[in-house]
Amino acid sequence: MLYYSLKNYKNLVSFEDAILTGLSPDGGLYMPKYIPKLEPNFLKKLPIFDIHTIAMVIVKPYIGKYIPAKFINDIIHETLTFPFPLKKIHDNIYVLELFHGPTLAFKDVGAKFMAECLSFFSEKLEKNVTVLVATSGDTGGAVAKGFHKKPGTEVIILYPHNGVSSLQEEQITSLGSNILALEIHGNFDDCQNMVKKAFLDKEVNQKYTLTSANSINVGRWLPQMFYYFLAYRQIISENPIELVFSVPSGNFGNIFAGMMAEKMGLPIKFFIASTNINDTIPRFLKSGKYHPLSVKKTISNAMDISDPSNFSRIWHLYDKNIFKLKKKLSSYKFTDEETLAIIETIWKEYKYMLDPHGAIGYLGLRRYLQEIDNTSYPAIFLETAHPIKFLDHMPSVLKKQIVSTQELEIFLKTKRKKRKISLSNDFNVFKNWLLARK
Ligand SMILES: *Cc1c(COP(=O)(O)O)cnc(C)c1O
Repeated sequence: MLYYSLKNYKNLVSFEDAILTGLSPDGGLYMPKYIPKLEPNFLKKLPIFDIHTIAMVIVKPYIGKYIPAKFINDIIHETLTFPFPLKKIHDNIYVLELFHGPTLAFKDVGAKFMAECLSFFSEKLEKNVTVLVATSGDTGGAVAKGFHKKPGTEVIILYPHNGVSSLQEEQITSLGSNILALEIHGNFDDCQNMVKKAFLDKEVNQKYTLTSANSINVGRWLPQMFYYFLAYRQIISENPIELVFSVPSGNFGNIFAGMMAEKMGLPIKFFIASTNINDTIPRFLKSGKYHPLSVKKTISNAMDISDPSNFSRIWHLYDKNIFKLKKKLSSYKFTDEETLAIIETIWKEYKYMLDPHGAIGYLGLRRYLQEIDNTSYPAIFLETAHPIKFLDHMPSVLKKQIVSTQELEIFLKTKRKKRKISLSNDFNVFKNWLLARK
């Protein structure tokens, strides 16, 4: 498969180069040259295939000859090592739990898949690759875990000072070895801008072979298409019609993956992008004006993003036509108060514990179902993190009820040194630091 830059459709690169560079030199995000269509028969038979076989069929055409099939198969087995259960909450509303991975966030899948692909290419090229990543919380931990001790790679993580939860910071700063944590005195958009500038900087690129592990990298969203197929696979026996998905969205990588799954042939009727008060996209769909405001801090901090990079892919996918887009997508925003209230309600009424991100996904789904006044087909929201990751923000009456997993208990009990470097949000400070390292 070849990939073109959204800034210049004639700039075609291989899958290998798309993974290795993250962003096109012209600053555009990469898109696959065409979208492979799945056989209708494959979809009907989904329940009889195991998840690794399904993943192989979905992802192989996007890689093509650049990784031999045997290795793709290995990568998939390394990546999909935990379950993705679909559970009924009430009526026709289901939750797809994506948090059973090592850092308890859905990003474990994309980070691991990308780390495996990158390590394959860096071994082939016999050169070290430096992954630069800006995180508003969960990306950092998942990428750190996915790349930890992977030969031929080092990871530099930029995260906003006071912008991530204590557990998230621990996941970012405690691994050491090939994982470096930079605490930036600024917000997530500052971190992301610094990373973007580093990619375009000549001197930095002379010294480093850089790539990005943010969801702009094709290696991140490609495997996230699996989620939507796995949801369909679990629900097909009950009601084999079209699905509705509500996706708690920040950088819009996860929902973009869903839209790609739909273009490949998965019967998805509609998407809801549920956001916190960083509501650039809900406002855009109303007014047609794309106008990011400064980032506001919320309790769903992995979504504290006002200028979502993957939206340019979505916009492109719908021919930059707001009417076409609105036929497939609605977007709603919710406040912290609404988020906390629904967490309490859902616990009281259904004994299900939402995290602040999943809570926003639930709220978006419910709002949509009320608006269309139709509750007959299965509607699914994605639960993107385990509530224990956001213990600091959970309603205090519920804190005791949040059950930890065994894996997390072990992680929490082990005392670790936090290793981090603090920098201001000035790109030149960051650049000098990069150039001064040996
Ligand atoms: C990253 C993240 C999101 C947002 O996903 P995007 O792909 O950036 O839209 C939502 N919830 C959690 C818990 C996350 O970590």
